[in-house]
Amino acid sequence: MAALPPTATIGVVGAGTMGVGIAQIAAAAGHPVLLFDIRAEALPAGLERIRHGLERLIDRGKLSHSTLAALMERIRPIQRLAELAPAALIIEAIVEELPSKRRLFEQLEEICGEQTILASNTSALSITALAATLRRPERVVGMHFFNPAPILKLVEVVSGLNTADEVAETVQATAASWGKQPVRARSTPGFIVNRIARPYYAEALRLLEAGAADVATIDAALREAGGFRMGPF
Ligand code: NAD
Repeated sequence: MAALPPTATIGVVGAGTMGVGIAQIAAAAGHPVLLFDIRAEALPAGLERIRHGLERLIDRGKLSHSTLAALMERIRPIQRLAELAPAALIIEAIVEELPSKRRLFEQLEEICGEQTILASNTSALSITALAATLRRPERVVGMHFFNPAPILKLVEVVSGLNTADEVAETVQATAASWGKQPVRARSTPGFIVNRIARPYYAEALRLLEAGAADVATIDAALREAGGFRMGPF
């Protein structure tokens, strides 16, 4: 399947840590982006975080003022969920609670066309469960970015039991067109990376319990000395 073209509108719901990063990525790839948050004040704050981050790239000579202005222009904060109607792909990055995400997708299903892809940035919830109350569960897919999203390349494209192959393939191709490295996974607990990383984090606590080393030493061995380089979640 082909990637969504840059003319396709991308909706992002949740203007927190992840949503803002995802909005930036989509806008940098040339898409018009609609950004919604249940807290109106999160929108200007989120846009300011994007601008601030990009200004640092200007300072380092990696971005021009005109590119920044064009990118910011493509992100439109919206006050009502209904304004997401024209989006081809909507990525939710709201609170990590199944009932809230389900309710959101139920509303989006009413608002959007039949072809709209509903993607979740959930770290751990089942994509099958997220889609279970919907009329079109085949349009739901996981699109799991890592923090900080504009920098880390990995995106897990997660299929629930009912996700249509063409939906996962479109999201995979779209993530690749955004400069990401998408990998496909089935919806099992923790998907790929968190499934492996969480026990790895816990092992540091076991090491501490066993009195093998103190916190600073374990941190230094794994982080500063390069034993472990990966973003959280
Ligand atoms: P966050 O708390 O920074 O932001 C969440 C935003 O969603 C808030 O601004 C909040 O006002 C808004 N929100 C909550 N309920 C809403 C609703 N019903 N409709 C619209 N907006 C709503 O959270 P985050 O860290 O960005 O995480 C968002 C999602 O991404 C979660 O599912 C989380 O598990 C996942 N995730 C987080 C990370 C991470 O490192 N922070 C990494 C990968 C995935």
